[in-house]
Amino acid sequence: MSEAPSVFSRIVSGEIPTTLLAETDRVIAFADIAPQAPVHLLVVPKTAEYRDVVELAAGDPSLLAEVVEVASSLAKEHTGGEFRLVFNTGESAGQTVFHVHAHVLGGSLQEGTLGGA
Ligand code: AMP
Repeated sequence: MSEAPSVFSRIVSGEIPTTLLAETDRVIAFADIAPQAPVHLLVVPKTAEYRDVVELAAGDPSLLAEVVEVASSLAKEHTGGEFRLVFNTGESAGQTVFHVHAHVLGGSLQEGTLGGA
């Protein structure tokens, strides 16, 4: 039996509305619904094929590069170009949606805040 579509697949299909901040043929970006930084955006491949960044890097490195490129261009627009890029990978690392996505965090982030529990 196949898994139910993830919240991000439902956003990609238009079932759940969001305001897109960027879109390419293969990637969308939008604001995180529960921001954890002054700027907190998500960059999400449209395909549901990859659960996390390790699978994405192995399966389609050019798509991973596109995620990073979109993150960088969003950061230029929203944070002056500097940003933290986070891929939670696995439940104990805080991943809750198993459809690969990058968190783009920015806006006066403090050093030493990476491993918050
Ligand atoms: P992770 O915990 O790394 O899997 O990240 C999932 C992220 O998706 C969390 O930061 C949530 O706040 C975010 N999220 C869940 N549903 C939505 C939604 N409908 N729109 C925007 N962000 C969402």
